[in-house]
This record gives sequence, structure tokens and C-alpha cells, in this order.
Amino acid sequence: MKFNVLAIDGPSGSGKSTVAKMVACKLNFNYLDTGATYRAFGYMVLVKFSETKIKSSIKKIMGTDDVDQIITTEVANELLNKFNLLYENQKVVINGLDITELIRSDEVSEISSKVATINEVREFLVGWQQNWVVEHGSSVVEGRDIGTVVFPKAPLKIFLTADDEVRSLRRSHQISQRLDTIKENLTLRDIRDSKRINSPLKAANDAIVIDSTFKSIDEVVEEILSLWKNLNL
Ligand code: C5P
Repeated sequence: MKFNVLAIDGPSGSGKSTVAKMVACKLNFNYLDTGATYRAFGYMVLVKFSETKIKSSIKKIMGTDDVDQIITTEVANELLNKFNLLYENQKVVINGLDITELIRSDEVSEISSKVATINEVREFLVGWQQNWVVEHGSSVVEGRDIGTVVFPKAPLKIFLTADDEVRSLRRSHQISQRLDTIKENLTLRDIRDSKRINSPLKAANDAIVIDSTFKSIDEVVEEILSLWKNLNL
């Protein structure tokens, strides 16, 4: 099947999910939120380590950035072998269980950015994401490494940013937490995402950077749609 990919990358709170969904809708494209795939795997790790005898591992994972001490290659592979992920109409289902809402918790946000540093996990999920698009056809795909790793040949790559204050404020409308806690968590995740060795968050060389700090969602959507139109594909 011939398909097109419009890649949208950027840090948390840059508005990329809202923008990506609207652009997909306007273009009549599918929409894939690759963050949901890392969250789904993070959720599975939480469930595995929540079993009573290894409960202390959860504390250790939450308290360290060296997750590979606990989630060894062996454990990651064991979990990946059992990882049956379905993503349809923005619903996330693993092994028959709908976890769409469950993966939005703070705990899952935190663990997903930690498991995203593990090579085996990234390799598996990147393959899964590429297959998803092959099976579904033209898509708007959002994440951190879509333009650099998952679809480096995408005809349009957007890197969406916004300043820290604005991103934290936007997150505060989605979750009920103190603003300073939100900002702190966002910064930690940004650092982890940007500094990891494997596929760090960064704009592809040929990405178009859009700063949404002083722009409305509609303005950003219009800008992306006009860039896409100008490609004359
Ligand atoms: O986008 P979202 O915040 O839902 O993603 C959750 C986590 O998954 C991010 O903090 C990031 O560490 C990881 N992620 C990634 N690569 C992607 C998408 C998400 O590493 N393409």
C-alpha cells in the first residue's frame, strides 16, 4: 500500500497531540500517538512489578534513572514477548485489556519515559509503529523520534515547541497537580528524553520548527496544513 506520513515531534505540552489529531482529521489521515505505545509498555512493567514479592522494585525504578539495573534485557524481552498491543481509534488495548485511561496517570508518565531509554524496547516499538502505518495507510504520527528514526523519509516533519511556562500551564489544564510539580516533572522528562543515547528527542535536520508559545492551536494547524498542501504530493 502506498502511504504518506506527516511526522510531528516535540516535547510534552508543546500541543502536539491536539494539533496532530486535528491535522489528521482535516487530511482524512489516520492518527498514531507513539507515546501511547511507550506508556502501554510502561504500564505492563508497573503491573509486573506490582506483584507483592517484587513491589520494592517499583520503588527502585521510580527512584533511579538506571532502570536497566532492574529491567534487564532478559526482563524486557520477556515482557515484550507477551506484549500484544492494539491501537485503534485512539483506544489502547494490551492483551485484551482497554488501558486508554489508565496509561494517563503520573506514574505511567514517569515510567514510560524511563522504559523509553531501553534499547530493546525502542527497537520493538519502532518496528511496531512502522508496521501500524503500513497496515493503516497514510497517517499523522506524533512522538519524539518520528522524523529522525521511525519515518526519516516522511515528506513533512514538524518539530513543535513552546516555552516551559506555557507547556506547564497547558499540562495543568489536563491534570490536577500543583503547577510547580508539573513543571518539575516536565523538566525531568525533557532532560531524560533529550539526553538519552538512543533516539533522543531532537528536530530532524530537515524538520520545520514551529514555536507554539504565542500561537493558537488553530494557527498551528493551519500552518501545518498549508505546508502539507505546498508539497503538492
Ligand atoms: O508523548 P507522551 O508524553 O505520551 O510519551 C510518553 C513518553 O514516551 C515520553 O516521555 C517519552 O519518553 C516516550 N516517547 C519516546 N518516543 C516517542 C514517543 C514517546 O521516547 N516516539
